[in-house]
Amino acid sequence: MALKAVRKDVYFDDIETRPVNSRRLYQEGKLCHAIKHAYKHAPSAREILDKARVKPSHICSIKNLEKLPITRKTDLIELQKSKPPYGGFLTIKPEKVERVFISPGPIYEPLHSSKIKWFAQAFWAAGFRRGDIVLNTFTYHLSPAGMLFHEALKQCGATVVVTGTGNTEIQLQTMRDLKVNGFVGTPSFLMALIKKAEEMGLNFRNDFALERAWFTGEMLSPSLRKTLEEDYGIDTRQTYGVTEPGGAIAYECAQKSGLHLMDDYVLEIVDPVTSKQLKPGEVGEIVVTPINNKAWGLIRFGTGDLSSYTTEKCSCGRTSYRLTGILGRTGDTVKVRGMFVVARQVDEAIMNLDTISRYQLIVNRIEQRDELTLKAELKEATIDQSKLANDLNEKFQSVCRVKIDKIEFLKSGTLPEKYQKILDEREWE
Ligand SMILES: [Zn+2]
Repeated sequence: MALKAVRKDVYFDDIETRPVNSRRLYQEGKLCHAIKHAYKHAPSAREILDKARVKPSHICSIKNLEKLPITRKTDLIELQKSKPPYGGFLTIKPEKVERVFISPGPIYEPLHSSKIKWFAQAFWAAGFRRGDIVLNTFTYHLSPAGMLFHEALKQCGATVVVTGTGNTEIQLQTMRDLKVNGFVGTPSFLMALIKKAEEMGLNFRNDFALERAWFTGEMLSPSLRKTLEEDYGIDTRQTYGVTEPGGAIAYECAQKSGLHLMDDYVLEIVDPVTSKQLKPGEVGEIVVTPINNKAWGLIRFGTGDLSSYTTEKCSCGRTSYRLTGILGRTGDTVKVRGMFVVARQVDEAIMNLDTISRYQLIVNRIEQRDELTLKAELKEATIDQSKLANDLNEKFQSVCRVKIDKIEFLKSGTLPEKYQKILDEREWE
């Protein structure tokens, strides 16, 4: 009995800890139903299937989603122009739409109450509960963020302070007056608040009651996370959300080792060129299909974000697979010998060694084979270059999964002032 009470407090619902196989069966059942529902009620979904010559009953497995094309933000904008206002994806009667949000594009999105539950699950995993007083610094206008997070925090029992964006001095005064212990916003805005408090002569750790911060919409760098946690004593969590397909896609638990996938989407990591599904550990584009959104028939939405996923068990007890973090956008990447090399991962591999000040990675094609050259400016000329070359290649291979063919060490300041970190010089004939 006692154990059950504790478990109930840790997990949002028992779906989070279900066995992997039963999750797959659950998701495929929901997918099958969602595709049939979209085909019946959303004209654009029907066109997509008809054009691909696929019957809805054929999309009852995650693998079979590959038979359908990917819909991107630009497609959605065009479709909303030609089939206003929802682009042919609305699957309920227009008078049943409770709220409409507007994303840049513009893209008009109907609210479905399930969106609130998805964010509530993410807030719950981050530890938000009854008794918490939470500053919601996302905008309440146009975009779904402010209102959605507000409702989701309420579902967790928290008290929400409606501040929205900007007004740092008022935000700080409110935080002190109300003894705010939770922050919802972007990492950079929280840092701006801390800096402002320090400029005002306050000691953030002692004069404020902030215990936890929940971030989305912007990457939390490992160094900023370390500063917030170690210097300011704030527990930080990230959630990955994309508004077009519905909202929260993946969220961090207390382990902070990847983002657990929400059960209400089928998430694929695909090769951005072929749209085929990739294996765990391989880097590709995040593509999502909502399976529990009765209002919206979007299928295979291509986010343009790059990530990979892991199937390893998480010690928090949740059984869902995890995203390994957002590694960049599809434009920041180059494919070398079949593997995607992503700018952020190259940075991680090379700059962590702390002996290189700047670098340039060049891809060439010599006798039908991709060749990778690294030009690296040394911080100190006296370093053992052959050992460093080995260390660099070892680190690079473990992070990017391809080998560098040539490494050239340069004196500091040799690379031009403006240069591209990754240069693709291949010519395809
Ligand atoms: Zn976990």
